[in-house]
Amino acid sequence: MTDPVLQTIGISKAFGALQASKNVTLDLQPGEIHALIGPNGAGKSTLIQQIAGNLRPDDGQVILAGENVTGLTTAQRARRGLARTFQISALAMEDTVLQNAILGALGASGKPWAFFGAALKRQDLRQVAETALARVGLSDHVATRTAELSHGQRRQLEVAVALTLKPKAFIMDEPMAGLGTEGSQQMTQLLHELRQEAPILLVEHDTDAVFALADRISVLVYGEIIATGSVDDIRRNPKVREAYLGEED
Ligand code: ADP
Ligand code: MG
Repeated sequence: MTDPVLQTIGISKAFGALQASKNVTLDLQPGEIHALIGPNGAGKSTLIQQIAGNLRPDDGQVILAGENVTGLTTAQRARRGLARTFQISALAMEDTVLQNAILGALGASGKPWAFFGAALKRQDLRQVAETALARVGLSDHVATRTAELSHGQRRQLEVAVALTLKPKAFIMDEPMAGLGTEGSQQMTQLLHELRQEAPILLVEHDTDAVFALADRISVLVYGEIIATGSVDDIRRNPKVREAYLGEED
């Protein structure tokens, strides 16, 4: 096995009497999409927040590219290449698509105090931004005001902004949520390609998308991982069917 890009080791988190994460150990390997699924309230978002740094675990560690980042803030983790997308959208709606991507590239350049006006003229940032936009299929929309994009295109732009970070790993919480059939298909295709750039830890409700995309799946139930394996392993696993998949039939 290669070294994992991202790892949790024995993460535990309680909210009062409720154990939201129970000794969760998982890893993200280069080039893979590792999906995290489980019923509502299973603790998926709580786990993601601990990995991203919004929540501090009671116990356990988060390791990014071999470094223990458990004590670091979200911003420090982001600067080390942990790209989280699809939180509350941080896009500036009145700015153009290109301006948003340049703003992202500016953050990644480590000089967020620079004036935005000056940043827009910087060829290096513009280059990074344009490359990221091309990667997600938004080259035809660089001059479009962000507010005029469709829901799906905004998601693509968020991915482009994340790409300007030159991420080591993506964390995505429900990228398909609220997208129509066509939007979901486009996002599925984008994620399919994106895993080459950086592996993706994917929380997604749409099990069709998960089964189509994931290299590995971990199933979380009551804060605990009850199984990790390939799509086939997970589909066939009796424990998983009983605790989760069965209930959807
Ligand atoms: P999921 O994302 O899998 O639906 P969550 O991680 O949102 O699950 O929630 C896991 C459990 O933790 C739920 O029972 C939820 O009510 C509880 N929970 C989540 N966040 C908090 C919080 N900040 N304070 C108290 N309880 C919380
Ligand atoms: Mg959730």
